[in-house]
Amino acid sequence: MLVLVVNAGSSSLKSQLIETHGKEARMKCLAEKVGTPEATMTVAFAPDFHKATYDVAGLSVARCLEKLLDIMVSDPASPISRLDQIEAIGNRIVAGGEFFTRTTLIDDAARRNLTRCEELAPLHNPPADECIDMLRTLLPNTPQVAVFDTAFHQTMPAKAYMYPLPMRYYDEYSIRRYGAHGTSHRYAAQQAAALLERPLSDLGLITCHLGNGGSITAVNHGKSIDTTMGFTPLEGLMMGTRSGSIDPAIITYIMRREGKTFDEMDKILNNESGVLGISGIGSDMRDVLTAAENGDDRAELAIDMYVYRIQKAIGSYYAAMTRTDAVVMTAGIGENSAHLRERIFAGLAHMGMILDKERNDVTGQIGVNRIISIDDSPIKICVVTTNEEMRIACETNDLVSQIG
Ligand code: ADP
Repeated sequence: MLVLVVNAGSSSLKSQLIETHGKEARMKCLAEKVGTPEATMTVAFAPDFHKATYDVAGLSVARCLEKLLDIMVSDPASPISRLDQIEAIGNRIVAGGEFFTRTTLIDDAARRNLTRCEELAPLHNPPADECIDMLRTLLPNTPQVAVFDTAFHQTMPAKAYMYPLPMRYYDEYSIRRYGAHGTSHRYAAQQAAALLERPLSDLGLITCHLGNGGSITAVNHGKSIDTTMGFTPLEGLMMGTRSGSIDPAIITYIMRREGKTFDEMDKILNNESGVLGISGIGSDMRDVLTAAENGDDRAELAIDMYVYRIQKAIGSYYAAMTRTDAVVMTAGIGENSAHLRERIFAGLAHMGMILDKERNDVTGQIGVNRIISIDDSPIKICVVTTNEEMRIACETNDLVSQIG
């Protein structure tokens, strides 16, 4: 089945056209820094995957996707010349709330419920929904599926997903921890089990998805038992522009002191905090690392805080699990920044997570899953290339085939 996978992020669009039978990508697209004047989109077609770069300055995520569809039907290297050659569409959706506990076909009822989930992930769900609407208009007869980041975390026990608030907030509004990045954590755990040559059901893993957004999950015997993201993807680690966990009293304090509205406060916490808020430079970790190397104190503080919060989360999940066999690093920062991995694990050797500096530094192995701890490290450290798109394509294929 030829599946178009759409992974709309807060400031990025990742898309692939995947032939699910042979599990082969036929087209790969990445738009970065979307919404800014520097936004670019690269598109590459099989078999050579020579990248062509397009200017998408100022376009929204959905408009970038529209431009990609134009390229796909007009570029001679493309495997399709008509949109109806796409047999199904798989959309990555960050938050499914209590409405969605599994991969779902997007019919009118599901689409209405997707809108109700938007406030749970205000940076991610709205651009994804815009992409779905645009595709429903352009490809009305092509089945569209939503694959939720929250589904993997449905195995969490109540002690992990409940908040110590008056019970009626759970009963009336379903306020609880849902987590996010579930597709990535599940995939990272499976890949780590393959690397360690052990069945996933025997392992205790701490999976770290460190990208623009970031979350850490305790995966016990293949099941998520706790995760740092919460009711929304705002909780947990310090992120590119999100604060992560802070004292909730700070929010009411700032609102009173500065007369902020709810929306303004939401924007501060989601768009103006985190690495951007502390460094004052940006949310892109590469820019902040470069500034820190050049002696920028605020950039250095942002990195120090970023690393410290990851160390504390790994430590807390070590305590939460009955055993820890490996820590798994994935996503943009986890996969690519040897420097940040070195800083994170420099503080964790006493827990038995001992990095091998040379293995960590190896360049030229990007994209290859590997173990980067020393041979006799009691807890292994793995780097896994996340392949959310392939997972989404396979889940889409399975559901559409099942429904017929
Ligand atoms: P998203 O959450 O949008 O999917 P990604 O997983 O693509 O994000 O990760 C994006 C982040 O990864 C950015 O902060 C980017 O700076 C960072 N990143 C990518 N490559 C590197 C690198 N070589 N060193 C440090 N950070 C990197």
